[in-house]
Amino acid sequence: MIAGIGDLKTPAWALELADSIHDPVELLSLLHLPPIEAILDDRFPLRVPRSYAKRMRPGNPRDPLFLQVWPDTRECAKVAGYTADPVGDRIASSAPGVLQKYAGRALLTITGACAVHCRYCFRRHFPYGEENPLGRHWGKTLQYLRDADDLREVILSGGDPLMLPDDRLAAIVRDLEQLPGLKRLRIHTRLPVVLPARVDPALCAWIADTRLKVTVVLHVNHPQEIDSEISRACHALADAGAVLLNQSVLLRGVNDSASVLERLSEVLFAAGVLPYYLHLLDKVSGAAHFDLAGSKARRIYSELTARLPGYLVPRLVREHAGAASKTLIVPPPSRGSSVGLSDFA
Ligand SMILES: *Cc1c(COP(=O)(O)O)cnc(C)c1O
Ligand code: SF4
Repeated sequence: MIAGIGDLKTPAWALELADSIHDPVELLSLLHLPPIEAILDDRFPLRVPRSYAKRMRPGNPRDPLFLQVWPDTRECAKVAGYTADPVGDRIASSAPGVLQKYAGRALLTITGACAVHCRYCFRRHFPYGEENPLGRHWGKTLQYLRDADDLREVILSGGDPLMLPDDRLAAIVRDLEQLPGLKRLRIHTRLPVVLPARVDPALCAWIADTRLKVTVVLHVNHPQEIDSEISRACHALADAGAVLLNQSVLLRGVNDSASVLERLSEVLFAAGVLPYYLHLLDKVSGAAHFDLAGSKARRIYSELTARLPGYLVPRLVREHAGAASKTLIVPPPSRGSSVGLSDFA
């Protein structure tokens, strides 16, 4: 997929990606941490780009970025209610690599690969690699999209779609542009955040070129993930014409407080990104230790809502297999001085 190392045409980001950290012992030593037991999971091993690891604070075993990637021994725990396919993706698959759960938009899983292995990810057990619609299935997939009723938006997802080289992505987009009803292209990616070098002129060129209106939905969970390099990447994407949104997952020990989420919204907005979704954790096996009680989630969310302007509050949602959209979670009214309409008279 990625050209050989040393190849003159290999982009800088691919070289950086190839140099990612895979060895738990190396990560601990870079962070000056004492030995911590890790699980060895061959199918979903530790994987973290060095630029992301640099944003972790040395000496802190509770660092919110470290916790997102560390293969904790608690992943082995069997917890009732946590399963391999909590969002019903196996059932929703409609054509090779196509998930069409919601009206007007279809999601394409065009690669199983990611630059970082987020330990709470619901995709960790899903064989997206086998579902790759590219190659010999691509014609079938395009035919399905052409026949789909009222399709206005295609979402490139994965894995992480930006793991593919730009010539492949540009070719996919050229094919999608031929679908007459299609208006929007969405890219769900964590790469600009975990490996900002991925946002280079080659990527921005095809985003700027397409007739489709492009939205890039990032995935940032904690304000510490955003530094000046990430801001640069976001501004470059915006300059190429992309609308930037963010989705987060509410994670115990990482971002389960109104003040952290408030700062997250503020730094996202400063980088030109609007908060979109705050997901309750999908109940995927191996991730139960990241989950928090629904009542606590609602409390955090109503406090967040009380602190921010409406456009900086992400929608709190949960995914239910078979539902027609993400399910909005309505928080209890936040406390504080209640202001009646008459107060404005
Ligand atoms: C989340 C998701 C979408 C996008 O939903 P929006 O509410 O439009 O952001 C589309 N397809 C699938 C399969 C999804 O899981
Ligand atoms: S799909 Fe997204 S959340 Fe899951 S491991 Fe890949 S980058 Fe992380």
